[in-house]
Amino acid sequence: QVCKDDFLHALEYDIKPAFGASAEALEHFLARGIINWGSSVSGILEDGTLLTQQARVADTFGLVSVLIEGPPNSGKTALAAKLAKDSDFPFVKVCSPEDMVGFTETAKCLQIRKIFDDAYRSQLSCILVDNIERLLDYGSIGPRYSNLTLQALLVLLKKQPPKGKKLLVLCTSSRKQVLEEMEMLSAFTAVLHVPNLSQPEELITVLEQFDLFTKQDIHKIYNQISGHNVFIGIKKLLALIDMARQTDPKVRVIKFLTKMEEEGCLDLGTMIH
Ligand code: ATP
Ligand code: MG
Repeated sequence: QVCKDDFLHALEYDIKPAFGASAEALEHFLARGIINWGSSVSGILEDGTLLTQQARVADTFGLVSVLIEGPPNSGKTALAAKLAKDSDFPFVKVCSPEDMVGFTETAKCLQIRKIFDDAYRSQLSCILVDNIERLLDYGSIGPRYSNLTLQALLVLLKKQPPKGKKLLVLCTSSRKQVLEEMEMLSAFTAVLHVPNLSQPEELITVLEQFDLFTKQDIHKIYNQISGHNVFIGIKKLLALIDMARQTDPKVRVIKFLTKMEEEGCLDLGTMIH
């Protein structure tokens, strides 16, 4: 006789939703797609793909863990989600500080532990641990963090999954230095760096993906910025593009460049004409 408890147990432990909440979580991170704005993007995707393949075939070690690090807004989470999605692992789970707001340290550790335990039950699993330093409650003022959570994560990052099971862990962080100080870096199989856009050509490549600026506008922008320092994360750039969309086409270029300068993403050194 099957009772409700058996059913709930099966729901919790036996049924592995290939397109359940986790896949949706990945889609949410990828809603704006991945623009190939430069060789570093293709480089990260290539290296990342090799690592996901390594996780799939590895016969000696069943665990591959990758840290995807870079400045805030550089696109770390989206790239991690892209790799997780393309890995085609049937079990994908996101472990994100957003889902644990207000959790006690203990509750947080238990939740992280549960995500890993669930993953160990599946043949091929992928866990995306987003924004590690926030998961550890790291605050730049102080600096203090949750040592309990750090120790829990360190154990899980080093623990081999049960025999025959493969686990791919993709982590993101804006604070590589902090993780280094916490002696966490050595726990990773590999570290991939996500840079900001730094070349005028890279910025133009992104602008050309949208029908926002005319060819002349883009030409004008290129003339203004070429030879100057650009330094902007893709997420921030997309936000500035959204903002420019709201402005009158006549002043769009000026508005966009001014905003870039105000935000410290562009150093023109002179007034914009
Ligand atoms: P945070 O520092 O706040 O965690 P982040 O570095 O994780 O930010 P994302 O949240 O991944 O940045 O935001 C990147 C956004 O840019 C996403 O909306 C993504 O779809 C889009 N995007 C477009 N092209 C790329 C790219 N080449 N790499 C990464 N993200 C891209
Ligand atoms: Mg992120």
